[in-house]
Amino acid sequence: MNLIVIGAGLAGAACAQALSRRGCQVTVLNQGGGASELPVGLLAAHLSAQDIELSQLSRLGVSLTLSHARALLREGIDWQPSVLEQKLLFHPEKNARLSQGAALLPDWYEASEAQVLHKQAAWIKPQALAQVWLAQPGITVQEACVAALKRSEKHWQALNGQGQLIAQADRLIIAAGAQAGSLLAQCGHPLTMDNVSGSVAFGEWPCDANLDNPLINGNGHFISGVAGDAGGKFWLSGATYERETYASSEEQQAASLQANQARLANLLPAPLLPAINAQFASGQVQTWQGHRCTTSDRFPIVGELELGLYVCTAMGSRGLSFAALCADILAQEIMKDSSPLITSKELRRELLPSRKTLKVSSP
Ligand SMILES: Cc1cc2nc3c(=O)[nH]c(=O)nc-3n(C[C@H](O)[C@H](O)[C@H](O)COP(=O)(O)OP(=O)(O)OC[C@H]3O[C@@H](n4cnc5c(N)ncnc54)[C@H](O)[C@@H]3O)c2cc1C
Repeated sequence: MNLIVIGAGLAGAACAQALSRRGCQVTVLNQGGGASELPVGLLAAHLSAQDIELSQLSRLGVSLTLSHARALLREGIDWQPSVLEQKLLFHPEKNARLSQGAALLPDWYEASEAQVLHKQAAWIKPQALAQVWLAQPGITVQEACVAALKRSEKHWQALNGQGQLIAQADRLIIAAGAQAGSLLAQCGHPLTMDNVSGSVAFGEWPCDANLDNPLINGNGHFISGVAGDAGGKFWLSGATYERETYASSEEQQAASLQANQARLANLLPAPLLPAINAQFASGQVQTWQGHRCTTSDRFPIVGELELGLYVCTAMGSRGLSFAALCADILAQEIMKDSSPLITSKELRRELLPSRKTLKVSSP
């Protein structure tokens, strides 16, 4: 079988490898510049007091991504498994319930009053993961901007802005992140999604600093000791959720830096905070900005839209947790594998493009 995947971010690359492993020929069309160009991201399960379905799904996803990372990435360079310290800030009652929830999953968590330690977490460079996925046999990546999709008698066709054919195949998957919404609407499948802008801040790792747990989250997150491309190490903190519009990119950048710095006061241990704050003060901290494709229920969107046309998107802030899992779910359904990854029908329904929360209300 041959397929087109639109998008070479985490979602598209994951779909391409999941299908190539099942013997398919995959053409990935990619314009470039998506959320997966994030310098480094955090991989950790979603924790909830009642172990809601989103938490269950994220654990399945984290386990799968960890197995891909172990098999394909260079430890210490492209990724690093590590304990994550989740600080329980601000809401004592909610925190007590979270701790109790965590205590029920001893393989995943170690809980105390002030923190939950995630035993299965990592930092991963999303680009490194996407690249190794795309390097699997049977995958061709083509730089192209898809403007329209068309169904011919036998194929799905991807067309450019001039209406010319870029590629055609038996099946087509839309995995275009923040641009998925417009492609879906264009081909008659409008879904309610949102694109939320956000930024991270990052800087050189102060060489004399050491942290017990290199990954910390709470209100935001802090990743330390990440291998830089040109040697040395860097730290990264994030991420903001920005719904405001700014008069200029300078103003936007200054607001992002300020928001990311402010969070660190609650996250960083006292000896490290002054060193990182000094980097902000002396202009040594950089920012990276991107757009997350999100849904109101925070579940990704995975499944068939009509005969031969599929979607795999809306990874929200958890592309590293969800991409590999969603791609395998979709590939299994396309190839009609007999033993599905997700056996819970309820959980599978939460991801379908036909679910209620994605219905576009008529004006
Ligand atoms: C500030 C910030 C911090 C984040 N931190 C984390 C984190 O710590 N951990 C984590 O797991 N996740 C994190 N995320 C979320 C993560 O980055 C996303 O969930 C993930 O990258 C989404 O992958 P994707 O493939 O769906 O979309 P993208 O990475 O955006 O990829 C979509 C691709 O489709 C291509 N495309 C779009 N339209 C077209 C078209 N018409 N024709 C051809 N190609 C097209 C784009 O060029 C792009 O390459 C963060 C996101 C942001 C913004």
